[in-house]
Amino acid sequence: MQHRLAPQEPRPNNYAGVRFDRLVERRGDAAWLAARLADPKSRFLPVWQTRNLVGDPGSPALTWIDQARAQALIERGAVPILLGQVEGQLYFGLDVSFLDTTDHEPALAGMGHFVDLRTVGPLLPPAPAALLASVKAYTQWHSRHRFCGVCGHTTRVEEAGHTLRCTNPACNAQHFPRTDPAVIMLVHDGGDRLVMGRQKVWPPGMHSVLAGFLEPGESLEDAVAREVKEEVGIEVADILYHSSQPWPFPGSLMLGFFARATDLELKVNTDELEMARWVTRDEVVNSPENEVFKLSRKDSISRRLVDDWLAATA
Ligand SMILES: [Zn+2]
Repeated sequence: MQHRLAPQEPRPNNYAGVRFDRLVERRGDAAWLAARLADPKSRFLPVWQTRNLVGDPGSPALTWIDQARAQALIERGAVPILLGQVEGQLYFGLDVSFLDTTDHEPALAGMGHFVDLRTVGPLLPPAPAALLASVKAYTQWHSRHRFCGVCGHTTRVEEAGHTLRCTNPACNAQHFPRTDPAVIMLVHDGGDRLVMGRQKVWPPGMHSVLAGFLEPGESLEDAVAREVKEEVGIEVADILYHSSQPWPFPGSLMLGFFARATDLELKVNTDELEMARWVTRDEVVNSPENEVFKLSRKDSISRRLVDDWLAATA
């Protein structure tokens, strides 16, 4: 089956695969930016304290506010972030986290609700999902880097939201958006079984493949092998890249892999996992999706790895 596992570029993961024009060359162009910020055709995607505006959460959609509403908020402290152009339409993110509450806010009245993207991400089409993930990632990076990591002074937003600059003239450090790489790997036995586990904090019954953060100085493949060893005590070989997924909760990039176990006796580290075990293909296919056993969310790369492994081993 190994030869049938392949990188998955043609079918992107949720939040990925939307190659909109990010207008990188315009980020430092103050006159152009001022004109776009004043342009009635520009659209603004608000984020309030990590939550995205999505209209009706039961039927979420890309929900923007117009320039007049955005201007009223920018004058009071909202921060615009140039996202780019999708099908000829210019979009800014708009961080309105300075508001104590969005209730009764005239500039947002009637526009919908602010929700956690995780609750609506699977319901959104690719372009809205990617735009909302992007603006969420920028605003969270801003909120976590309000002070310079070099000297401790405050930072200010530059380059249309894409860099943060230390306000201490003697330091003047420029800070760039952070992304934390994490590996997520489906460990199989070369046959019809894979390793699934769960953490105590997950919803009852939810099982997923193994995952963990990259450590400094480590390759992705080294991280896959180390995490598997740490979590379930086995060695792996045939580590094969699958795909990646932006995961701005708050700032990760999930890098998905397949790996083949070279020994089969799991020694589960219960400091990291509540449990882990070999699960058969039939168990996964016939998952009861209840509080005893269920798979991870359909928008997750974990689920994608499982689905593609099922297809490859059918
Ligand atoms: Zn500094």
